[in-house]
Amino acid sequence: MTAPRVALTFDNGPTPGVTDAVLDVLAAHHVPATFFAIGHKLATPEGTELGREITRQGHRLGGHTWSHSVQFGVADDDVVVDELSRTRAAVDTAGGDGLLFRPYGAGGVIDDRLMSPFGSATLCSGGYTCVLWNVLPGDWRDQRGWVESALGEIDQHPWSVVVLHDVVDAALPRLDEFLTELQVQHGEPTWSQEFPDECTPIRDGSPSSSFGTLDQSS
Ligand SMILES: [Zn+2]
Repeated sequence: MTAPRVALTFDNGPTPGVTDAVLDVLAAHHVPATFFAIGHKLATPEGTELGREITRQGHRLGGHTWSHSVQFGVADDDVVVDELSRTRAAVDTAGGDGLLFRPYGAGGVIDDRLMSPFGSATLCSGGYTCVLWNVLPGDWRDQRGWVESALGEIDQHPWSVVVLHDVVDAALPRLDEFLTELQVQHGEPTWSQEFPDECTPIRDGSPSSSFGTLDQSS
């Protein structure tokens, strides 16, 4: 069996005391990952320093909205513009890629609340890359069971985009075990910091074949 391709992503940080420990585990396993940071956390002095450390260690750093409190599919247009521009600035300041963006999906659900037509158009005109996911093991709600969920889901995708969280009470306690088990089951996976079209509805400002996932209401 060929090794799966796996893009490991961490959302909702950076979190002092957690993100640094996540980086240590990734370094021990030589796993390159991508972090989608919340703008207001990244813009603090401690957060910006963690963001710089993320990129210094070879990981990608993108944005995951400024407030992580309003879904773009139900937000006013001016709120969308404000969330995007402030997040982009914070990510760029920390040395990341301000045009790499993951929308806020409450509970990880991909539906019409995720993005408005205005939001999609703004991402396109701004040249953004919008990254969704296909493996959501739920580390934030099931600290004990997420590893088995993740391993099972990864088996079903040739190219997995796994969402974990570098926050308190989420992936960190079992992250080392997860990476060890994944390597035992599959040999060394092909670690990816790129994302398949099915999880990238907008790439460098252009709609991909999965663009329709951003507009499921129509
Ligand atoms: Zn999130």
